Amino acid sequence: MEAPLRETRSNVSLAPLTTLRAGGAAERFWVARTVDQLAAISGHLHAEGTVPTILGHGSNVLPSDDGVPGDTVHVLSRRIEIEPSGVVTADCGCAFQDLFLATAQAGFLGFEYAVGIPGTLGGALVSNAGAYRSNVSEFLTELEVVHSGERRWVEPTFMSFSYRDSRLRRPRPEACTLLRARFRLPRGIPKAIYDEAREYQRQRISKQPPPASAGSFFKNVTGADFAASLENLPDRLRNAGVVPAGFLIQEAGLSGFRHKGAMIARRHANFIVNVGGATAFAIRELAELAKRRVLDQFGVLLEEEVLYLGDWSRFGTAEA
Ligand SMILES: Cc1cc2nc3c(=O)[nH]c(=O)nc-3n(C[C@H](O)[C@H](O)[C@H](O)COP(=O)(O)OP(=O)(O)OC[C@H]3O[C@@H](n4cnc5c(N)ncnc54)[C@H](O)[C@@H]3O)c2cc1C
Repeated sequence: MEAPLRETRSNVSLAPLTTLRAGGAAERFWVARTVDQLAAISGHLHAEGTVPTILGHGSNVLPSDDGVPGDTVHVLSRRIEIEPSGVVTADCGCAFQDLFLATAQAGFLGFEYAVGIPGTLGGALVSNAGAYRSNVSEFLTELEVVHSGERRWVEPTFMSFSYRDSRLRRPRPEACTLLRARFRLPRGIPKAIYDEAREYQRQRISKQPPPASAGSFFKNVTGADFAASLENLPDRLRNAGVVPAGFLIQEAGLSGFRHKGAMIARRHANFIVNVGGATAFAIRELAELAKRRVLDQFGVLLEEEVLYLGDWSRFGTAEA
């Protein structure tokens, strides 16, 4: 067993470790460079009765300006093993895009949509990340976790996956760290795999704004009646009964709206971008404004895809 305690630091600023480039510091900060280190740190903290905050590439989180109390574990384990049968075992700290590259190079399909998603495999599993009608739970066969101090392999049903959701997104966090995931991928034709990924990448570049963001801030809304009631919604979406959150925010007149260094992107109204020194509170204030406007205009409460980390008790109070 590798010694896990070596890399603990105090008050580590999390803003540089998030794609929104905002937020305060982690009270205690651990770095796990291998799966065994991650398991040992998690086991040690669970045994102390602590539920650590796990951080991947920080591309789906907003840590509070008031910081993240307790222990934060930064996952840097990156191994990917591919068997000729298409069984892939990957560390949850590997970049989701590296998983695409490694598996595509070995001639397997399944992660084409992952190109341009800047997170780790662990973060992708927590939010059942996906795009273009695919998601990470699709070819998943097993997961290795440390759950309440115990290291074991579990079935995908353990995660209770649904659209951009899993049990690890619930408001009361569980003592559960994702260590490794196993997939069984079908063989594909290399040219077709790369062509598909290239096409998705092209679409992303044309839609996504370049500045600091956490991708889509809110989940899309589903509902055939609601979609049918929206005159300006493109037919394709109306027929699918899907209403993009960005469509609602744009219809509410907020595209390009700025608030203290944060902005609703013009190119994609579901992206809140940090255009210059926005605090986490400012970003969340803008998100709350978008939610209020959409609720007033459409009677729909948007749900965040981005996860708020840490101590938000001062948010929305007079002191904030
Ligand atoms: C430009 C841009 C485009 C994006 N496009 C998409 C997209 O098309 N589709 C999509 O679904 N998402 C998209 N995202 C969001 C994000 O990239 C994904 O959700 C990503 O998979 C998150 O991974 P992460 O490592 O950054 O997670 P983090 O942000 O670090 O963490 C997210 C959550 O997962 C938890 N977590 C992370 N690792 C572990 C672990 N090993 N064990 C337990 N919990 C863990 C964290 O505690 C946190 O609650 C986009 C983001 C950006 C910035």
